[in-house]
Amino acid sequence: MPLRKRPAPTTLQWAAKCAIGALNAVSASGVVSSYDLINREYLWPTARIYGNGTEWVNHHPVAVLFGHAIRKLTASECLCEGCVQDFTLAYTVVKYLAKTRELPPLIESYMKAGRWADIDATLDAPVLQTAS
Ligand SMILES: [Zn+2]
Repeated sequence: MPLRKRPAPTTLQWAAKCAIGALNAVSASGVVSSYDLINREYLWPTARIYGNGTEWVNHHPVAVLFGHAIRKLTASECLCEGCVQDFTLAYTVVKYLAKTRELPPLIESYMKAGRWADIDATLDAPVLQTAS
């Protein structure tokens, strides 16, 4: 998906779709530019609503995927176990977010608290299987 095509600007779903698109990007500067836009239009406004700050923004799965995309394009990707686990968790969560218009309350509470691993763990729960 081209990064310029925005399905629904300023939503989490839009940010998630852009983050997935960034993984197939060919221009690091384009990824940086899209990440800047998503920071300004989604991540920071949402962090303020939730009462969170820099750490929440930097560790948001959308941010993790953009970081991965930039490292891949600049040939500085790390394939150690920890980095692969971080990427896998972020990718699983972002894939879910990209197809979800409204977050179930449990997922939103984890999101607000920055409990990303708990979101990942919850995605297999039967209660969410009908949500997509
Ligand atoms: Zn690493």
